[in-house]
Amino acid sequence: MEGIQFLKQYSGHHVYFEAFEEATKINDYIDGTGLAIKSEIAGSLRRKKEIVKDIDILATSKEALKLMDAFVNYDGVREVIAKGETKTSVVLKSGINVDLRVVKEEEFPYALHHFTGSKEHNTAMRHRAKSMGIKMNEYGLFKGDHLIERKEEEEIFSKLGLLYIPPELREDMGEIEAAEKGEIPVLVEEKDIKGVFHVHTTYSDGRNSLEDMVRKARDLGYKYIAITDHSKSAFYANGLTEEVLLRQWEEIDELNKKYSDIVILKGIESDILPDGSLDYEEEILKRFDVVVASIHSHFRMSKEEMTKRVIKALENKYTKILGHPTGRLLLARDSYEIDVYAVIDAAAHYGKIIEINSNPFRLDLDWRYIKYAKEKGVKFAINPDAHSVDGLEDVKYGVGIARKGWLEARDVINTYEVEEVLSILRNM
Ligand SMILES: [Zn+2]
Ligand SMILES: [Zn+2]
Repeated sequence: MEGIQFLKQYSGHHVYFEAFEEATKINDYIDGTGLAIKSEIAGSLRRKKEIVKDIDILATSKEALKLMDAFVNYDGVREVIAKGETKTSVVLKSGINVDLRVVKEEEFPYALHHFTGSKEHNTAMRHRAKSMGIKMNEYGLFKGDHLIERKEEEEIFSKLGLLYIPPELREDMGEIEAAEKGEIPVLVEEKDIKGVFHVHTTYSDGRNSLEDMVRKARDLGYKYIAITDHSKSAFYANGLTEEVLLRQWEEIDELNKKYSDIVILKGIESDILPDGSLDYEEEILKRFDVVVASIHSHFRMSKEEMTKRVIKALENKYTKILGHPTGRLLLARDSYEIDVYAVIDAAAHYGKIIEINSNPFRLDLDWRYIKYAKEKGVKFAINPDAHSVDGLEDVKYGVGIARKGWLEARDVINTYEVEEVLSILRNM
């Protein structure tokens, strides 16, 4: 972990969840001063980018100087870079830069849109405005010199003949065309998630017992949970022999009797072996409700070999979900060499589910590929890959990435009821 920490500071980039936690605290602090009429987190954080460079906060206030004074006196500030009435920049003790901008109340919706970005999205929006004879910038929409008054960001879009575009989609990936045609998807939300599939326990390398994980899932309101410890080749993660598996299944049967409000599914995170096969004999594989197939070793294959290996695993009738498809660890390890589009095409062909791994250091599959996969008809599972009870709460980060990938609830199988899920898994 120290190595990862070092890399993050070295590069001046930060994973989403760390920056988001800091930003939320600062925004609450600004709120608490009573000096801001309103304040909001903007920038790439608002777009839920997996890696961010800094935190942007936008506020409107009648006492801007006092607000800036309060801001630089915030507990977490290490250094003040610049301080002015409209913009102040600081560095936090955690190394993250924060810009606070104070704008006029009537400019707020425009500034919020502008400082949310992305740059590419903003450029496309300006072009559209221009084609309608309207000038657009961070201060407003103008007909000639006349400001077109808007109270909410949403109205900027409607003025330009567009449906509201959620911040996560503002990446110039076709969102303006979709908004023009009235085809902005109703994006999946955290509350849509009814159960989870990728969960480790003390049987392999998890920190909490199977029953603790089940209890926590119930507390979170989930209706089903698939226990997927590591398979036998994962000796470094205490992977399960057939004998231990049988014991786990007995415990799952017991817990299913004990808890009537949640269904516990028998699963495994099976290593994909170098030749693309799974890690147990058919006799065992056919008894799982769900098999998540993942790569945990032999990362250094050629792109062709790696792609073939994963496609072979997808072809296997017992594989249900492809786990963390590219193996990346944000700011620490790049994806292994793999033809992601070929893998997605194979998943579509064999009717397999692709995971959005919600671990905040993975967030894999990358959202840039998700829209393509959706268009191919691939379904996704937003999986916590939890190794502790707290890990179950990571699902929200996966939901953020699913939203960036244009997914709606129906594209995500863990928004379905358990009966539906079991029937899908059995018929794959
Ligand atoms: Zn894994
Ligand atoms: Zn895992």
